[in-house]
Amino acid sequence: MHATGTSECPLRVAIVGSGPSGFYAAESLYKAAVPVRIDLFDRLPVPFGLVRGGVAPDHPKIKTVTRIFDRIAAHEGFQFFGNVQVGRDIAVDELRRYYDAVLFACGAEADRRLEVPGESLPGSHTATEFVGWYNGHPDYRDREFDLSSEVAVIVGQGNVAVDVCRILSKTVNELKDTDIAQHALEALAASRIRRIHLVGRRGPVQARFTSQELRELGALEACAPVVDPADLELDAASQAELEHPDNKHSQKNLSILREFAERPPSDAPKQCRIRFLRGPVEIRGTARVESVVFERNALEGEPFHLWARGTGETETLACGLVFRSVGYRGMAIPGVPFDEKRGVFPNVQGRIIEGGSPIPGLYAAGWIKRGPSGIIGTNKPDSAETVKALLEDMPALPPCPRRDSLELARLLHERGVRVVTYADWQAIDAEEIARGQQAGKPREKFTRLEDFLEVCRR
Ligand SMILES: Cc1cc2nc3c(=O)[nH]c(=O)nc-3n(C[C@H](O)[C@H](O)[C@H](O)COP(=O)(O)OP(=O)(O)OC[C@H]3O[C@@H](n4cnc5c(N)ncnc54)[C@H](O)[C@@H]3O)c2cc1C
Repeated sequence: MHATGTSECPLRVAIVGSGPSGFYAAESLYKAAVPVRIDLFDRLPVPFGLVRGGVAPDHPKIKTVTRIFDRIAAHEGFQFFGNVQVGRDIAVDELRRYYDAVLFACGAEADRRLEVPGESLPGSHTATEFVGWYNGHPDYRDREFDLSSEVAVIVGQGNVAVDVCRILSKTVNELKDTDIAQHALEALAASRIRRIHLVGRRGPVQARFTSQELRELGALEACAPVVDPADLELDAASQAELEHPDNKHSQKNLSILREFAERPPSDAPKQCRIRFLRGPVEIRGTARVESVVFERNALEGEPFHLWARGTGETETLACGLVFRSVGYRGMAIPGVPFDEKRGVFPNVQGRIIEGGSPIPGLYAAGWIKRGPSGIIGTNKPDSAETVKALLEDMPALPPCPRRDSLELARLLHERGVRVVTYADWQAIDAEEIARGQQAGKPREKFTRLEDFLEVCRR
């Protein structure tokens, strides 16, 4: 028997999830001079995770990272198993029979909850649903958003919240040349939303959006940013945070917010009000959302460790639509330990652990490893760390008994799973681009499984 990781017996790795962390893990494996064969699984029939289904349509440059992923996929010994959900179509234990190591890069697809009354009223949505809808994600394609009221509230102040705010604020003219899904463009064209409140429970210094995203809100065709100068008055601890020489992030944000606050009143048809130190305590309405009750907060604690404490003073904001953008959590997969509290697979440097000890051959990278933080690029060193651990463990990994991906493909076929290959994806990609060209867009995405599979059949 040859040792694994030799040309006679290449290391066999299954990567579960074809978002940035999955592709960066594959890249790290190929860079290590070890013969390796990688099968990359995704539950969707298309690759790239949140680069396709999360990144905003009006940020096309960010999506060009997929060219790097295409180059990784072109490696010899790479295969894409799209439309295969691990834990449903194939169990983790089964997968382990075909691979020496299984590396989970399956992201954080569930939402944190606000845990306030009224959260589930019609008209109260997660940002995930809205983002998935405008990006043509098959899971969210058929969601409906009632855009007929004038006021929308977005709870949360990260970049995703700003994305939602910007998409609601933009005109059709600003969106029509993007790869936004056609059904979303049409619905947004009829939107009557005029006031958008972007509300955070902590202060302007603690807001998580990046200055680049924030600045964009000040340069929209028909929407003006509004900031109350009183909201920018800082308590002593926030002032200390702001003045810390390493806190360039907050300094840039504050200077943009101050510039917004100084702008003269605008007659723009839409307004985006950025508000701080308000935490939602209830979403009210009889049949659907009618208002959100916020409690005014004060900050407590030491600089960089400040938390929001309710002051008891409340205010009610009438609105017809609420988007909750308060973070993501990973989802459990049967056969893999799960940290319910953090919503990640418990791990040490990428080695998945149970009872404090690593489970040989199981690894995690990206959002399912560290939680939903950071930008696309953050996943590159993160995945490299996991691959380093995997390669260190390689000599001790028991070789998997079934070393044949074709046999696995046959098994999936017998189960009625139509595996989408990378060649299939390239055909889908070409058709989407061609469909987009007709409409002056970079691509018109397919949004239903049957349409993806129809292209594959052709
Ligand atoms: C709305 C939004 C906008 C963002 N915009 C930007 C931006 O503009 N710029 C930027 O740098 N970063 C942005 N980010 C952050 C960036 O997208 C993440 O850092 C990155 O996508 C995380 O990579 P990942 O591979 O861990 O997870 P993901 O990208 O989520 O990929 C996970 C993949 O796993 C698959 N999967 C899940 N479960 C299974 C299963 N059981 N079996 C098989 N496959 C499975 C999913 O289908 C998915 O393809 C954004 C994030 C969000 C949420």
